[in-house]
Amino acid sequence: MRCHVDACIGGWVLPYAARLGRPVPPWTFAVPGVTSISVDLHKYAYAPKGTSVLLHRDAGLRRPQLFAEADWPGYTMLNTTLQSTKSGGPLAGAWAVLRTIGDAGYLELTRTVLDGVDRLVAGLADLPGLDLVAAPDSTLVAVAADGSCDVFTVADELAADGWLAQPQLSYAGQPPTLHLSLSAATDVEGLLLALRRAVDAARAAGPVALDDEVVGFVRALDPATLDDAALDGLLAAVGMGGGADGGLALPERRGEVDALLDVATPALREALLTAFLDRLSRPVRGGGFDGGFDGGADSR
Ligand SMILES: *Cc1c(COP(=O)(O)O)cnc(C)c1O
Repeated sequence: MRCHVDACIGGWVLPYAARLGRPVPPWTFAVPGVTSISVDLHKYAYAPKGTSVLLHRDAGLRRPQLFAEADWPGYTMLNTTLQSTKSGGPLAGAWAVLRTIGDAGYLELTRTVLDGVDRLVAGLADLPGLDLVAAPDSTLVAVAADGSCDVFTVADELAADGWLAQPQLSYAGQPPTLHLSLSAATDVEGLLLALRRAVDAARAAGPVALDDEVVGFVRALDPATLDDAALDGLLAAVGMGGGADGGLALPERRGEVDALLDVATPALREALLTAFLDRLSRPVRGGGFDGGFDGGADSR
């Protein structure tokens, strides 16, 4: 039996956190039964995106991951990963970043980011409107609204200010939250000021008001049979159906869309978002490129 530890985010933080004397529950191969661990270098190793490490407890456990195919007339395929052709660019970038920052550098970066988390947590205690969901073990912080505002409007207000906070939808009785990822580069005092401004604006604006009819429409949708016509109706109802040539009209603010997704079941959220993604990546006649591929002539 295998037990994988997905340490994509924490894997490069927690070992340094432990060396800095912070309490870290056991999570590594030191725990009997753990057979593999994943760590994303493109997160807290600050390397270019697309560089991850998958560690196995021993070579035998890694064997099934290696792929060879000789039973055909072509050249013998041999790959170490699921991905066959892949770029060496991000790998070279990761190697350079790791060599440049180094062990002592990562220790300092971890000290910086965890000190920032402490200041954020302390600041949130003095910030009416938002409540910490749980004391953070590492560098991710979740906050919920206290009822005087909603997190979707707070996220929109933060975005208008240049801060990206990922809204997390309500789930299994838990309220919607904002997901804040801190890095060693985060200006925590600036973030606290922005949060304060965003909460004030969100309180003044009031929570996103959803049209009862639209909510009823969403609740009646069946994720298994969601088709183009149903999606068209929904996009029109939320004002996103009006793009030129059948394209999408993307809203400036996403609060209403998030609030609407929040009333949907997880299966319906997935169906709606994949249908949306499908729409987003369909070619639209005459749309898209300013100047086009034809050297600047009007593509229409
Ligand atoms: C980031 C992350 C992954 C991998 O996602 P990518 O989009 O490939 O970076 C997997 N698990 C967790 C917990 C993560 O945070």
